[in-house]
Amino acid sequence: MSGTLAEVYARLHSHFGQPHDWWPIFGDDAAFEMLLGAVLVQRTRWEAVEQAILRVQAHGWLSPHAIAHAAPEPLAELLRPVAYYRQKADGLIQFCRYLCIHHNGDVRRMLAQPTLAARAELLRLPRIGNETADVILLYAGGHALFVVDAYTRQLFARVQPEPPLAWEQVRYAVMQAHIQQQLDHLDLPDSQDWATLYADFHALINEQCVRYCLTRKPRCDGPPARRVYSVQVGREAYLTREDGCPLRAICAYYQHGPHEPS
Ligand code: SF4
Repeated sequence: MSGTLAEVYARLHSHFGQPHDWWPIFGDDAAFEMLLGAVLVQRTRWEAVEQAILRVQAHGWLSPHAIAHAAPEPLAELLRPVAYYRQKADGLIQFCRYLCIHHNGDVRRMLAQPTLAARAELLRLPRIGNETADVILLYAGGHALFVVDAYTRQLFARVQPEPPLAWEQVRYAVMQAHIQQQLDHLDLPDSQDWATLYADFHALINEQCVRYCLTRKPRCDGPPARRVYSVQVGREAYLTREDGCPLRAICAYYQHGPHEPS
């Protein structure tokens, strides 16, 4: 048995529930923190990103204006928990200088443009590729763009939702268009827009890949991995579940190997 993307979403949503407050925010400028987190998480586990953000906050530099005026060395030292912290410090300083000069240090103002214009502007800035740009546009700006990250590729390559696609190989833009096209058939409730659906789906995919569909040894039959984040709100309910991965019934990897179901 296989399933569609809509079915994957429905099963994840039913298992994990609504991903409220999925993105932990520590200061008073959520949009800027999302931008910061989107850059810092490149090749880094989220726990380390949280540590770095808390170190920046404790130093009083958790704002675009503060980082724009920061010297590279001390900022790099604060970002030491994340990978490529020197390069990320340099890139963030340049980014924040640009943001202060062109948008008065206001991420929301920068993102208040039409989607394509805001995306093109982001992609011209340091340390921003397709995935990072779309995370910022979706979560900080409310633009309806499905984020394709390594977890998304890994999960869909294993589950192989219908219709088929070479999930691990296709270019970013092709995969994004395919997913958005498939989800387009969904009947959205009045209370939900596409940006909210994409944001929730991305959050659920990440939770699934952190708890069950681990890169090396997927926990198909459970229990879920218990990685701890600073904000655990809403997660307690499923960390103790013993019914295994919610996608087993439609997962090609589970049904046809290399894993043999017990
Ligand atoms: S059944 Fe196993 S391989 Fe398939 S999605 Fe779940 S954890 Fe991943």
